[in-house]
Amino acid sequence: MMNKLIVVAAPSGAGKTTIVKHLLKTFGVLAFSVSATTREKREHEKDGSDYYFINEADFRQKVKKGEFLEWQEVYKGQFYGTLKSEIKRLWDLQKVVIFDIDVQGALNIKKAYPSETLLVFVKPPSRDILIQRLRDRNTESEESLSRRIEKASYELGFEDKFDVVLLNDSLESCLARAEKIVQDYLQSTN
Ligand code: 5GP
Repeated sequence: MMNKLIVVAAPSGAGKTTIVKHLLKTFGVLAFSVSATTREKREHEKDGSDYYFINEADFRQKVKKGEFLEWQEVYKGQFYGTLKSEIKRLWDLQKVVIFDIDVQGALNIKKAYPSETLLVFVKPPSRDILIQRLRDRNTESEESLSRRIEKASYELGFEDKFDVVLLNDSLESCLARAEKIVQDYLQSTN
């Protein structure tokens, strides 16, 4: 198996986490790239499987030592990054690595690994529906919610830079199309 990366990126609230989880269940060869972050752990999350939760000083130290393949201050004061060691760990296990990261991070992964990376853009049916989904999720404070809405609106403009666009209209058909995209990519020779 050649080294492969699948990056699923989307404006927050477009449904990418659901899609990534479904793909991980469907294809045993896929493994999730666990990012490092400085944001607070949510109640249902587990350190080491959803994220590596670290403090800002540790994060900055890793940036300085060049340990990240890419990193972003996704929201003010909240840092997220992909560790080079994480990709190496999963490639060593013969896995195809799948990412759930923001749009800018996705483009940076493609820049680092142009021929290994499939970039998938998950597109919400409309901006209004995206905002409604963010509100319904109800995990954020009003301030954090409005930051997420602002960022999501900006990210909607980047779909042209992606290899494939996956419209998230009805979940069932979206998941079926996602499976087909991944199946084709797994069979390709890059
Ligand atoms: P959340 O806080 O909701 O888990 O994630 C916030 C945003 O950060 C999401 O768009 C998520 O995909 C993105 N994100 C998670 N990990 C990384 C990473 O390693 N790098 C980048 N650039 N974005 C990430």
